[in-house]
Amino acid sequence: MQQINHYINGQHSNQSERSSAVFEPATGEQRASVSLASAAEVAGAIELAKKAHGPWSQMTPLNRSRILFKFKALVEANMDELAAMITREHGKVLDDAKGEIIRGLEVVEFACGIPHLLKGEHTEQVGGGVDAWTLNQSLGVVAGIAPFNFPVMVPMWMFPIAIAAGNTFIMKPSEKDPSSVMRMAELLSEAGLPDGVFNVVNGDKEAVDTLLTHQDVQAVSFVGSTPIAQYIYETASKHGKRVQALGGAKNHMLLMPDADLDQAVSALMGAAYGSAGERCMAISVVLAVGDAGDALVDKLLPQIKALRVGNGLETDMDMGPLVSAQHLDKVRSYVDIGVAEGATLLADGRQLSVADHQQGYFLGGCLFDHVTPEMTIYKEEIFGPVLAIVRVKDYAQALQLINEHEFGNGTAIFTQSGEAARHFCHHVQVGMVGVNVPIPVPMAFHSFGGWKRSLFGPLHMHGPDGVRFYTKRKAITARWPKPKEAQAEFVMPTMK
Ligand code: NAD
Repeated sequence: MQQINHYINGQHSNQSERSSAVFEPATGEQRASVSLASAAEVAGAIELAKKAHGPWSQMTPLNRSRILFKFKALVEANMDELAAMITREHGKVLDDAKGEIIRGLEVVEFACGIPHLLKGEHTEQVGGGVDAWTLNQSLGVVAGIAPFNFPVMVPMWMFPIAIAAGNTFIMKPSEKDPSSVMRMAELLSEAGLPDGVFNVVNGDKEAVDTLLTHQDVQAVSFVGSTPIAQYIYETASKHGKRVQALGGAKNHMLLMPDADLDQAVSALMGAAYGSAGERCMAISVVLAVGDAGDALVDKLLPQIKALRVGNGLETDMDMGPLVSAQHLDKVRSYVDIGVAEGATLLADGRQLSVADHQQGYFLGGCLFDHVTPEMTIYKEEIFGPVLAIVRVKDYAQALQLINEHEFGNGTAIFTQSGEAARHFCHHVQVGMVGVNVPIPVPMAFHSFGGWKRSLFGPLHMHGPDGVRFYTKRKAITARWPKPKEAQAEFVMPTMK
């Protein structure tokens, strides 16, 4: 049985007394055991990261960037191995795993521009003989806590910009699929990253709480479910840290009667069932306006029934298993709840059986019609391959529903009307909006983040917000007076 430890100060290490099982969701077999760090082990990692910060932050941004260029090349060279690690522990199909690595690498590419991104502002002659400028300096030790659903991409939303800016980093991956982050830590060392700059501590609440409360951690980035995001935000803020904590979602697609239905249905299939619905930007609700609902069901249902569900390591699969037995039970129970609440279950994935994988955590695509806003399956995040159709009379009612929902991560409108699309972009209370684009995940050079209970904290991830989050600004005002001009001033200084 493989033992997954920690990666601290450039080495694999382990003094943990506790561990947790890592499963292969396609087979239901235990694949490895991951160490769960004690508070003392995490504190030790923070101390080493603090020591590494001095020399790392003094290295020129250009040289830090060159290490990231090498890291990018190494990730590309090891793409197949990393993708297989993701698929084995998470379950998503191999091409999808490669897709998340590529989206993560885009942030590395952005971070390679750090010499430019760190530049401050400069104003000459703000007063007579006085100049002013700003510096963007690193914070020190910063921490990242990741969810299970993007074991490579979400850490890459965080650490490339953080370390490029001169910080040192402690990563706490999900205990469900930690292998790929451990491999990235090795690749960073191979790329020339000095020891202690990027560290991985595996663990659970004990490790997380140490990161949230330790005086030498300056900032915490979190992605996961909303209750934990709120806990992270409140606890780390109370301990004086900067926090960005991204939470759960319930993303709606607004389908107007004038939309190109074939295009909308294709988009919906990938957005609702890709990665078995375990994406924070998955579409889980369609608001079908007017008579769009009947035509939608006619086109959607055969495609859901034709979904190829199986082991993500096999070629030509559309959808793999869910991540764990507990999560499978939870998603199945939401399907039971939907039936009990009176929604019409048009596709029932609970019946699915995958040949030679009887112990795998599989669920076929599920489709509910005539879901109403009072139902639990409308209100709560399910995080599985379960799509709900809500019939609405008009655009105004659809917009109101989206704006009243507790989450505001992503949304999309499908229409051919520029007027409706423009109105939607302006008035919808959601952080990321697609127009005929089902999963509007911003590129690395923009920033990613939701509104309402999908994000706690003012700054989004990566892009310009990422640089701002991981740097502190210093404003300098300088005068070089000739000796005879120097004299004390006892009033508030103003520029002359
Ligand atoms: P989770 O909240 O259970 O776990 C996330 C991280 O928090 C893990 O590293 C876990 O070890 C840690 N954690 C869990 N319970 C904790 C506790 N009580 N105290 C301290 N730390 C704790 O989330 P998950 O199940 O791994 O991921 C799925 C969730 O993540 C979904 O809700 C999804 O919407 C969300 N998500 C959001 C985004 C986004 O960008 N908004 C992106 C990806 C995933």
